Amino acid sequence: MTPDEFRKHAHELVDWMAGYLENIEKYPVRSQVTPGEIFKQIPDKAPSDPQPFGQLMKDFDEIIMPGITHWQNPNFFAYFPANSSPPSILAEMITATLSAQCMNWETSPAAAELEEKMMIWLRDLIGLPDYFEGVIQDSASTATLAAIITAREKTTDFSVNNNGAGSAGTLRVYSSEQAHSSVEKAVKICGIGKNNLVKIPVKDDFSMDPTGLEDAIEKDRKKGYLPCCVVATVGTTGTTAVDPIRSVGEVCRRNNVWLHVDAAMAGTALILPEYQWMIDGKEYIDSFLFNPHKWMFTNFDCTAFFIKDPDRLIRTFGILPEYLKTRTRGKVNDYRDWGIPLGRRFRALKLWSVIRSYGVDGLREKVRNHILFASRLRGMILKEPDFEILAPVVINVVCFRYKPAGPDENKLNSINEKLNHFLNDSGRIYLSHTTVNGKYTLRMVTGQTNVTLNHVEKAWEFINETARKLGN
Ligand code: PLP
Repeated sequence: MTPDEFRKHAHELVDWMAGYLENIEKYPVRSQVTPGEIFKQIPDKAPSDPQPFGQLMKDFDEIIMPGITHWQNPNFFAYFPANSSPPSILAEMITATLSAQCMNWETSPAAAELEEKMMIWLRDLIGLPDYFEGVIQDSASTATLAAIITAREKTTDFSVNNNGAGSAGTLRVYSSEQAHSSVEKAVKICGIGKNNLVKIPVKDDFSMDPTGLEDAIEKDRKKGYLPCCVVATVGTTGTTAVDPIRSVGEVCRRNNVWLHVDAAMAGTALILPEYQWMIDGKEYIDSFLFNPHKWMFTNFDCTAFFIKDPDRLIRTFGILPEYLKTRTRGKVNDYRDWGIPLGRRFRALKLWSVIRSYGVDGLREKVRNHILFASRLRGMILKEPDFEILAPVVINVVCFRYKPAGPDENKLNSINEKLNHFLNDSGRIYLSHTTVNGKYTLRMVTGQTNVTLNHVEKAWEFINETARKLGN
């Protein structure tokens, strides 16, 4: 592709992008294709001859677009959001154009230094103490893995890194039974083992019971295990429950155990002074993550990972083969040593673009509105006697179910499952589900970048009508 052809296609593509964002509500929110439908339309062999970009775009529109689920549609209420925004997309275009590989300071000093500064901005915005230093990781799963590995090395005086997993006794990690599956994945792959993840019971609000945690650690010590790390969650995936950081932190301090906090989605709410209560006890935290790529309008992937003592992290992950030696070593941040991959994208640019474009006040206003919409939705649901709220509404997630009089619990589960599928198959809205105390639960998240109260009201009207139709 010549520079002129590139310019022409890029201009056309920008028009396509603007048109897509303008018309996004016309697409079915969840893709309506069946398994294999896209695969079979793509030729079995790669083409031998060069093909024009225009042909690719035609196929993209006809073959690929029907198989896309539109996460940026404001009627997307499923999972947790993976938001983007125009300023973030523009920055991603620059990142893709530069295609710098930012493993060391020297391989793009601006990327390293902007990352350092953005992590300071974010740290201060979410109210973490100023001794924390930050690094961008690709995902919360990776950041939690990095935290648990660093805790493992701290507990074993860096012996597992040298001698292997079996060398230091049996390590134990603790999280609530509501913690995200990324914790289990991390203990599986870092050599601690799934059976050494102790799931602590929760209280009625689904937050970790610190007494249960203390008991579990005490029992483990008596059996000769090595308590290593507690993962507390601020905003669990099922119901956005918030583990009590202060009392969990006190248990960690008494037992000399690492405290990692996973605030993947809910961490964004910490930019609101009125949500600082979620990290009351922050002085006990050793490492902390949240995902601007979830609720802070920044394209996937972008996890902000903060650590109290970065030297431990660097000692855990640092490597220095001859071909990576630079003259600036030790004077700058070589972020390859702050996590798992060597190669790194220039992710700080999109954060810079988003924060500057909205301004802190603009970000706060959007996040406050999303929280308000969830509480309004809760009010709408509470007005209907045959619907039930199943968990406290803490931030932007409402857990509920349809509960007409008569059916037993099994039948209610199947009615709600059917309702969920029916809603999503319509293409009008997209919700996902969880179980709460064994009950099939619809989860509606009011956190998409462009969601308004009107979208929430219309979605609720549709759910309400559909439930009654299906119920009869
Ligand atoms: N932690 C929590 C609480 C989550 O809800 C999620 C995903 O929804 C994750 C971790 C994993 O996030 P990621 O996709 O960034 O690994």
